[in-house]
Amino acid sequence: RAHLQRIEEVDGDVHAFLHVSDHAVDVAADIDRRRRAGEELGALAGVPLAVKDVLVTTDMPSTSGSRILEGYMSPYDATVVAKARAAGLVPIGKTNMDEFAMGSSTEHSAYGPTRNPWDLDRIPGGSGGGSAAAVAAFEAPLALGSDTGGSIRQPAHVTGTVGVKPTYGGVSRYGAIALASSLDQVGPVTRTVLDAGLLHDVIGGHDPQDSTSLTDTWPSFAEAARAGASGASLAGLRIGVIRELPQTGFQPGVWAAFQNALTTLEAQGAEIVDISAPHFEYGVAAYYLILPAEASSNLAKFDSVRFGLRVDVPRGTVEDVMAATREAGFGDEVKRRIILGTYALSAGYYDAYYGSAQKVRTLIQRDFAEAFAHVDVIATPSAPTTAFRLGEKIDDPLQMYLNDITTIPANLAGVPGISVPAGLAAEDSLPVGVQFLAPAREDARLYRVGAALE
Ligand code: GLN
Repeated sequence: RAHLQRIEEVDGDVHAFLHVSDHAVDVAADIDRRRRAGEELGALAGVPLAVKDVLVTTDMPSTSGSRILEGYMSPYDATVVAKARAAGLVPIGKTNMDEFAMGSSTEHSAYGPTRNPWDLDRIPGGSGGGSAAAVAAFEAPLALGSDTGGSIRQPAHVTGTVGVKPTYGGVSRYGAIALASSLDQVGPVTRTVLDAGLLHDVIGGHDPQDSTSLTDTWPSFAEAARAGASGASLAGLRIGVIRELPQTGFQPGVWAAFQNALTTLEAQGAEIVDISAPHFEYGVAAYYLILPAEASSNLAKFDSVRFGLRVDVPRGTVEDVMAATREAGFGDEVKRRIILGTYALSAGYYDAYYGSAQKVRTLIQRDFAEAFAHVDVIATPSAPTTAFRLGEKIDDPLQMYLNDITTIPANLAGVPGISVPAGLAAEDSLPVGVQFLAPAREDARLYRVGAALE
């Protein structure tokens, strides 16, 4: 009730939610009954959970921020939502996002932008700006996001929250409306590293419904966070800093907060190691070919027949109806990427664009493998700048894309990443996040280091 009240009070300004549950109080009461009846429920039972609208839910509409899915009701729950419900969490609403998770500012939502609770004239990051803003504005204690190129970590960075992109395959993608299937991962957005670990423990693990889901047995990430927060020495922990990074232009206050974080970790016994990842900076270029290619294929299912919107064309052919529907139902950024993706995949251009991008992807994976032979984790600022102003980059796609420079490589390599708050930038008093990356399957390291910094 307190969270619903808070939503009532602030969401008119923040607009973190596209839909607020009308039965969350009943669900919570039911969980309370189960607990009183002696049922063993987990640590998060009864805790409200905001759910990014990319995740399908049976009891609330799922639009992925698009007009083409307005009012769409799913016949099933995303696995992460089903797992959260089983653990007694209470889905409180669906959060705003860039359309089909394409963007870094949530300005590409068909339902209007979300605003950053720290400064309502600024963006909350994207694509999962709604989830991050909801957590930062105390509208929800926990949220779920999806991260294809940074959509959990970058919103966490600009809103002073914690965001985790798990190892590819560590958390089920079943019921996450696909953007780019080889890059997408679902993960937690929270106010503390421990909260993220608790939520990750609930949503993670094998799912036979997701063909790329790992069958690993995972350690408790909440335990890893507790170990990190215990004050125990970090002696023996090697943190890599990418030598090539400072050349790519960071806001001074972001860079200073990052250096401060490294000093704090060094004081706890960690060793800072200079590493080289020469292909890291080509991640953006490769990603913006691979992602549109996969997205153009994934979005072909919005064909005016199977899902959502249909625009009728009197005496029109099937193709006319499909074209009119996609014309009306998709926003500019989605159209831009479909065109880019189909072009990159077309005969004659495939090798030059898609093929080259895949080669760069392999080089980035090798950079990581080489680096992780020497260090336990890699640290970077989570993004080059603090929250920019609404409207500042909306007409300049390239500037918007370049914002993802530090987050994208993890998706291309399938490795896990976390963004942890690291204070405010001196020049604008806005939050800065530090990102840690670990080898695939070593998500626990991120929780340990993240909690040690916190
Ligand atoms: N900003 C990136 C993009 O626009 C990230 C998207 C995401 O992670 N869903 O593609």
